[in-house]
Amino acid sequence: FTPFSGESIALVGLGRAGLPAARQLAAWGAEVTCWDDRPEGRAAAEAAGLAVANPAEGRFRWDALLLSPGIPHLLPRAHPAAAAARAAGRPILCDVEYLYRAVRAAGSAARFVGITGTNGKSTTTALLHHLLTRAGIASQAGGNLGPAALSLNIWGSESVYTLEMSSYMLERLVTIRFNEAVMLNLSPDHLDRHGDMAGYAAAKRRVFAGQQPGDLAVLGMDDAASRALRPAVSGRLVPISGETPQLGGIWAEGPLLRDDAGPLLDLREAASLPGSHNAQNAAAAAACALDLGLSRAAVAEALRSYPGLPHRQERVGEIRGVSFVNDSKATNADSAARALASYDRVVWIAGGEAKEGGIESLAPWFPRIARAVLIGRDAPALAATLAAHGVPHEIAGTLEAALPLAAAAAAGGAAPVVLLSPACASWDQFTGYDARGDRFRALVAGLPQERAA
Ligand code: ADP
Repeated sequence: FTPFSGESIALVGLGRAGLPAARQLAAWGAEVTCWDDRPEGRAAAEAAGLAVANPAEGRFRWDALLLSPGIPHLLPRAHPAAAAARAAGRPILCDVEYLYRAVRAAGSAARFVGITGTNGKSTTTALLHHLLTRAGIASQAGGNLGPAALSLNIWGSESVYTLEMSSYMLERLVTIRFNEAVMLNLSPDHLDRHGDMAGYAAAKRRVFAGQQPGDLAVLGMDDAASRALRPAVSGRLVPISGETPQLGGIWAEGPLLRDDAGPLLDLREAASLPGSHNAQNAAAAAACALDLGLSRAAVAEALRSYPGLPHRQERVGEIRGVSFVNDSKATNADSAARALASYDRVVWIAGGEAKEGGIESLAPWFPRIARAVLIGRDAPALAATLAAHGVPHEIAGTLEAALPLAAAAAAGGAAPVVLLSPACASWDQFTGYDARGDRFRALVAGLPQERAA
């Protein structure tokens, strides 16, 4: 099976996904030349018997450039290999493009689902994967979330590829046709990479490119930028909303998730999907699952049993009526807003490296904060904003110091929820948001059970 024989590919970025991708493409017959700016990366490629050369030097002589996701390819921080490929008129592709072509070359009729949006991609991808798996459909989840595309199995004709697609990846697709495409929402994030909102929207709308009239196009209606992508839809439009009725679509009305045919589920029964943003994610996953043949009952059952993803409003403990929620993935104010909006009253642990604008945009949810306990480098700046709005707060410095303070406040009756939703990056104190969330989980597990007494 050598679908790519006669094709030459320059691959830049030999990290966790890059090297296995290079090996797989070579096994499928491509002539692969690898590069990494780090000598360790190049050494690993050489050890694997792969050709090594810098495609940014001299004439770009390959049919295509494959850039690993971590490598910037747009101005101003673009890798020079991208400029070389462009100058030579050669496409820059992502690994999902090669996965799609390999699967189709294998004669497989497997379906491809592409899920994108500014927020909720991982949740919706994991949720749809859960729905399909529970119903006995062999879903493989990957892309931006979890396993890299080229590590997925291409031989299951019955399978569904449930792919989380970043805007970066969407720009790097040429032939793909998503049988089910999801565009959740669009807010000004990642603008550094795409330059402006128009460029960002143009990248996102590509999830619908190549769709045929029978294909499903799920479009989030809860923000203006996403609604504006409607003209990009050539498939069967199913509008979704966490807030307002959508004729011909799926939406949340109060706690009920429903479509034109009636209620699908009372979302209060889906414990791992709190908040209207998760109602939107549930609506999107349900739309795809119904399209892929699941019954309404199967969709409802699987939404109820969804266990949630770590670090995203993950309930990590309960002590005498106080829930401890790990939302460490909320590295910006926008994400933290979703979490704060999901609970009536919280003791809030926040802080770290603040993004531009700080937490001022969270002011509408400040009344829900019984007390804030702040950590990290920008705790003083957050404290100043909270003080200006009269929100009770204290600076604890570290997560280790913050948790007992927050637990004590909650136990004293301040709120039934202790929420870690930092609204900040974690780099000042942790190796990443996952390390921060893991630490929180461990600290909660170590709290004395009688504390809330
Ligand atoms: P992504 O993969 O797009 O980064 P995640 O599913 O990992 O998204 O969720 C990240 C954070 O974004 C969550 O913690 C939550 O606060 C917020 N979020 C999740 N779904 C949505 C949504 N549909 N709309 C807005 N915000 C969301």
